[in-house]
Amino acid sequence: MSDHTLIYDTPELEETQSVAVKLAQVCEKALPAGIVIYLKGDLGAGKTTFSRYFIQQLGHQGKVKSPTYTLVEPYELDGVTVFHFDLYRLADPEELEFMGIRDYFAESTICLVEWPQKGAEYLAAADLVISINVHDNSRKIMIAAKTPKGAGVLTQLSTSMGT
Ligand code: ADP
Ligand code: MG
Repeated sequence: MSDHTLIYDTPELEETQSVAVKLAQVCEKALPAGIVIYLKGDLGAGKTTFSRYFIQQLGHQGKVKSPTYTLVEPYELDGVTVFHFDLYRLADPEELEFMGIRDYFAESTICLVEWPQKGAEYLAAADLVISINVHDNSRKIMIAAKTPKGAGVLTQLSTSMGT
């Protein structure tokens, strides 16, 4: 599966931005197929920062803050709806059932999910899993494809990034 994983060194914000912007462009091209992206990594790794650049690239002008208390923040953008989840404070994954989680994972929507581990079996499966690792002064973004759709997106990202 090594051909289905990309790793980027992103010590500076601009490098995180570059990966997020290019991934957003590639996901936009794949529409109306929806895509589910999990974001993993410790607190402060840069999951929300990555999501912010991604959502702004798709046309959102204002702030993107972590939906820590609301669990999900919708962004109705030109041609696409993005749902940004942060499940860090989710006490019981069954809450997701009550909020009608399945309706979020529709065609033409892009779902970004921070702390997907907390959602257990209630979440739709990921097309892409992004893992951000911070060590001293180094930061790495690893992107793994989990479905054929994810693999297609990843191939295009690789071309767009030039690696
Ligand atoms: P998380 O959502 O994973 O908890 P945040 O995105 O909220 O993390 O916080 C990451 C913090 O690290 C932000 O303050 C951001 O400005 C900072 N940061 C510094 N360098 C980078 C980088 N190269 N990529 C992403 N974030 C960075
Ligand atoms: Mg966050």
